[in-house]
Amino acid sequence: MRPTQDLIEHIAEFPGIGPRQARRVVQFLLSAGVPFREKLANLIIESGKSTSPCTTCFRFDDARDSGVCSICSDSLRDHTTLMVVEKDIDIEGIEGSGAYRGIYFILGGLKTMTERKNSRRVRTKELLERVATNETKEIIFALSTTPEGDYTARELSKEIQKAHPNKKVTLLGRGLSVGAEIEYADSETLRSALRNRS
Ligand SMILES: [Zn+2]
Repeated sequence: MRPTQDLIEHIAEFPGIGPRQARRVVQFLLSAGVPFREKLANLIIESGKSTSPCTTCFRFDDARDSGVCSICSDSLRDHTTLMVVEKDIDIEGIEGSGAYRGIYFILGGLKTMTERKNSRRVRTKELLERVATNETKEIIFALSTTPEGDYTARELSKEIQKAHPNKKVTLLGRGLSVGAEIEYADSETLRSALRNRS
């Protein structure tokens, strides 16, 4: 058993963390002491119990009996417009901009042109099932303007248009600069990107 090395490898799988940062995190945990590590371990276990992904959009929300999150179950929202984002945190920025009243779908990852192992996390099948429902009229891709984001939007748009030629597929306008991540975009940029979608 080599728990320290295993921990480094697990932490290196976190978004935005590489092997070097993972080593720093583990060094911090080792120096923080046993009570801190025990508390953290318990919080990790408990946090999975009180939240679960929405059965419709896959967003993590406090567990509900219906299995559907507060956004998906809001009848005042426009259920004909579906915005596809990469991850939960992207929704926070878009909600904060106040410019969008439709619903969401969380892809869970981006397709990569070379690595196949990342592609399996992308919820392609679930998205196509979601789009197939009658209520969906427009699908907006709001992915990062990185090569992977552009590639993912292009590939998924093609698949949707092939299966459902009557549905409108749009991309956020290029108010977003190249390489921009939705997570870090400010409200005004998101509002103008949404207005200029095409
Ligand atoms: Zn939902």
